[in-house]
Amino acid sequence: MTAGRYVDLTSPELGAAFKSGQVAVILPVGSIEQHGPHLPVGMDALMAEQLATAAAARLGDAFLVLASLWYGYSPHHMSFPGTVTLSAQTYLRLIAEIAGSLYQHGLRDLVILNGHGGNIGPLRTVIAEITRVHGRSPRVITYWELISQEIGKFFEHPELACGHACALETSLALHLFPKTVDREAIPAHRSGEAGPHMFGSNPVVEGLDFGKYSSNGVIGEPSLATAEIGAELFELIVTELVAALKSHVRPGPPN
Ligand SMILES: [Zn+2]
Repeated sequence: MTAGRYVDLTSPELGAAFKSGQVAVILPVGSIEQHGPHLPVGMDALMAEQLATAAAARLGDAFLVLASLWYGYSPHHMSFPGTVTLSAQTYLRLIAEIAGSLYQHGLRDLVILNGHGGNIGPLRTVIAEITRVHGRSPRVITYWELISQEIGKFFEHPELACGHACALETSLALHLFPKTVDREAIPAHRSGEAGPHMFGSNPVVEGLDFGKYSSNGVIGEPSLATAEIGAELFELIVTELVAALKSHVRPGPPN
């Protein structure tokens, strides 16, 4: 058994863990979608899974990592081949039914660790519904939001460098799964100035279509990425994630 993996446990083990209230579950969620000419389409789920696994390992037996949800809500990437999206309705139901199954068996604490910007809106919507139906709410954490205060230490203009398949994601991929990165294909210049950025803010929103913002699918400046920055970013995100889990999710006896 791999420590901390939900799918390696037996039904009686999980039943007892839920009943004790001593265990929380992390569901990593991502998307299968274009990540520019240089990053794998599985980037977001790969990232969420690695973060969840690293954080759970530091938290002992208190957190179990559920099988990742690879598919997400990505209509805005459908102008690029390889993208697979669910409809909003399907995505909302998937999350609601996964949470509902866990809650039916007595789980108290569910954390959804998100690696994809397009999932943020649907996740906020569905956790309100889940709360109404089940009387308890999953916690949602989108990983880059954990480091919005510190990102300026890594890139001079994070509001422009980080958006999609960007300086942040490319650095993390070079550190965590370098074999999947096509280094030769990393665009030399900043792309997609008008597109949504991870650390930018714009009070005006519109329906997204990444094909409209960027011919190569990138928003940001992946040429700034290095494996060394990726290693530092990963350590910082795991540290912040562990702190967030400790302060917002406290597995304990059922109340
Ligand atoms: Zn991504």
